[in-house]
Amino acid sequence: KAKNAEQPEFIQAVTEVLQSLEPVIEAHPEYEAAGLLERIVEPERVIMFRVPWVDDAGHVQVNRGFRVQFNSAIGPYKGGLRLHPSVNLGIIKFLGFEQIFKNSLTTLPMGGGKGGCDFDPKGKSDGEVMRFCQSFMTELQRHIGADTDVPAGDIGTGAREIGFMFGQYKRLRNVFEGVLTGKGLAFGGSLARTEATGYGLVYIVDEYLRCHGDSLEGKTVCVSGSGNVAIYATQKAQQLGATVVTLSDSTGWIYDPAGIDVALVKQIKEVERGRISEYAARREGVTYHEGRGVWVTPCDIALPCATQNEVLIDDVRALVENGCKLLAEGANMPTTLDATEYLQANGVAFIPGKAANAGGVATSGLEMSQNSERLSWSFEEVDEKLHGIMVSIYHAMDDAAKRYGHEGNYVMGANIAGFEKVAAAMMAEGIV
Ligand code: NDP
Repeated sequence: KAKNAEQPEFIQAVTEVLQSLEPVIEAHPEYEAAGLLERIVEPERVIMFRVPWVDDAGHVQVNRGFRVQFNSAIGPYKGGLRLHPSVNLGIIKFLGFEQIFKNSLTTLPMGGGKGGCDFDPKGKSDGEVMRFCQSFMTELQRHIGADTDVPAGDIGTGAREIGFMFGQYKRLRNVFEGVLTGKGLAFGGSLARTEATGYGLVYIVDEYLRCHGDSLEGKTVCVSGSGNVAIYATQKAQQLGATVVTLSDSTGWIYDPAGIDVALVKQIKEVERGRISEYAARREGVTYHEGRGVWVTPCDIALPCATQNEVLIDDVRALVENGCKLLAEGANMPTTLDATEYLQANGVAFIPGKAANAGGVATSGLEMSQNSERLSWSFEEVDEKLHGIMVSIYHAMDDAAKRYGHEGNYVMGANIAGFEKVAAAMMAEGIV
């Protein structure tokens, strides 16, 4: 802890995982002798670099870029690039650490990594975003490659940014390879990648409900965020018969009792790059609230899809009081530790992000497979594989929790199921 004192999010993520792994470590004394836990919490490599670029007014701007190559025991490093002013080393380390277990859970051969920059794409022109992405990739290209480390999108990094970064990689390295995922369909992207995280989140919720004799039909759902994950979670939940009544951004949130009009949100967020407040201005019967507070809305199911630590103890008290029965994390670590424990203690099923949002990276893995074969699969084929992976993740975490005597504790189940394969690989590969 002392070594990482300035990294509270990283400590939070490690604490949760290590608590879950206690029974596994007890059952495997050989892990201790091999220093497995000491090794797994230390990234294999951290790269931190200067990102200089020139804005439209001709001024030089300097940002700080990161790539944390956390663990390559089961495959090349894989994980997104976050572009947000809040980005720092602790946040990238927490995300990279979580990614190790998430990627393992997908059943695909991918190690864990994460990167990003404290650059804010909001309010920047396309030219500024392009110059930033080119500068960022000018350094990053030394450290990545289709068989080494394959970054992807995350907060602030969508198709536009991936396109600019891919163009610069190709120009500098003179190779056309699947070095990034989330690419445009014209240059190696996969159908269904855009939808994958949100759809996958709803598929795992649906499987949970199916196994408990229930379904999404007629359920009221609260979603937070209004970005990539939130939009496609909303779309799939409504396709399966639920009504999604909220969305948010970092400025405020909306309540739409009739159910979110997904086409309108896509127009505002994906085409106009606008704010969620505009949704309320354009649709009858919708209320807009400044600030945070989405979780006071009564719902059966809560799907936080914005960012880390957005669901606090007061929020979960309100959710429990209003009869919420299930929370599944679309974002990474949106629920604080005390809020998670409160939900679990009050009979709310809790599906952690490393299982619930793994559909994004799983489909990135499928994009890598398509790039390797130089073939493109149909939307239906990718979507069906995604669905199969989410079902298998649900059962892997459910089984692991049962095996260790903690039935229904999906935090433990997901951590254990993700850890087992990585641990076996690390043991077999020696002290490296
Ligand atoms: P987007 O950038 O598309 O959207 C992020 C949304 O969250 C926006 O509505 C944004 O609002 C809001 N948000 C971001 N930061 C904050 C903050 N500090 N406070 C309040 N709201 C905030 O990102 P994604 O949808 O891709 O990612 C959302 C979450 O899902 C992240 O935790 C990400 O790591 C996780 N995730 C994403 C995957 C993917 O495939 N995209 C895969 C797995 C996990 P605003 O516009 O105001 O900033």
